[in-house]
Parts: sequence; structure tokens; C-alpha cells
Amino acid sequence: MTAIFNIPAQPQVPITGSGDTFPVHRIFCVGRNYAAHAAEMGHEVDREAPFYFCKTPSAICHTGSTIPYPPGTENYHHEMEFVVAIGKPAFRVAEADAMDVVFGYATGLDMTRRDRQQDGKDKGRPWDLGKDFENSAVIAPITPASDFTIAKQKIEMTVDGVMKQEATLDELIWSVPEIIAHLSRYYHLQPGDLIYTGTPSGVGKVLAGNSIHGTIDGLAPVDLTVSAPE
Ligand code: MN
Repeated sequence: MTAIFNIPAQPQVPITGSGDTFPVHRIFCVGRNYAAHAAEMGHEVDREAPFYFCKTPSAICHTGSTIPYPPGTENYHHEMEFVVAIGKPAFRVAEADAMDVVFGYATGLDMTRRDRQQDGKDKGRPWDLGKDFENSAVIAPITPASDFTIAKQKIEMTVDGVMKQEATLDELIWSVPEIIAHLSRYYHLQPGDLIYTGTPSGVGKVLAGNSIHGTIDGLAPVDLTVSAPE
């Protein structure tokens, strides 16, 4: 049998310090994982269980890209995030063993059609139109875990040079091992899976012409420029 069209290429993320790449399998995103962001969205902090939504791998957008303002929104938002790249299989992994399956870390942007996400919330419907769309999973090159230890690193983001989001990684409500242990109760995590760990407070509108610059101390920065809509 022959495929009737070219099999789409798997998105690949460069790895810092080498010519190697990380092929993306799945993209999981954690919701409301910083207290100040939960508050700004009108929610109380919930330590019952983390929750997730997913993006399709085709939503990957490489740092440094210029992308058109997306269709179907009048309230396009930035969400600066710390991204975990899974490098080994993990199913029902214990928290104590969870860090063993991490390949590395990256800076990323969970770009969001906030109005479409709000529609979903209001109507009790899925968030896909708000979260899973083309170029909505921006990512910088991945730094191997051997070169980065999670502590109190700053996570910051500017729009046209103006600081919008500012926090430290120790403010995560659900830690990386907690997230991996929990998620692995529901999925067989595999090499190539990415986990966007949630955004700090300060989310807001991005307009055509804006440039976003996001940093986490010790990782490659993430950059995105938004041009006029198509
Ligand atoms: Mn997010």
C-alpha cells in the first residue's frame, strides 16, 4: 500500500549544544499552576489534582518565528511557560522516580485564543479552539537535564520590551515530579512527549506587530513576532 499523500514530518525541536533534535510525540499542558495566575483568571488554587489539556504536535512553532495574527480571535494572549521534555517511557511512575524520565527543559509559549477558551468555559465545552491551533505551541531549543536543575530560576516575559510576566519556578503549584507521576497514571508517557507546565500571572493581549521575548535563567530564550492577520 502507498500513502496517498506525503506522510507529515514529525516536528523536531533542536537540542542545545548539539546537532541533535527531539522529535515531538505529544504536547500536554497543565492548567492553573501558579497561584497568582489562577487568581487573575478568577479561580481559587486547587490542590486536589492537576488538570490538563493537549495540543497537537502540528501546533509546534519554533522560536524566532514570525507568524500571522491567528484567525478566529479578538483576544489572542501570551502565556510564558517552563516546558519539560520526556526522554524515557513512564507509566504509573512514582514521584521519587519521575525525574529519571526527564530528557530536558525549554522555554515555551502557550499561545491562547482567550475569547474562544472563555466560550468553552461558559458553555461547558472543550477548549480546543482556544488552545490547540496552528503555531500555538512555541518552543525554544531544549537544554538537557544534566545542564539544568529546577530551583528558583526566574521565568519572565516581555512584549515589545515591556515586562508582562514575572515569577520563579518554585512558585509552581504542582511540581515537575508531581505532574509526571500524576500524568503517568493516565497515559503511557513516551520519549518525545512535552509538558507545558502552566503560566505565571500577567497574561494579556498580543497584537499584530508585537514581539514577545521570554526567558528562564539557564535556558535558551523564546521569541515570537506576530504580523498582520492573513
Ligand atoms: Mn498555559
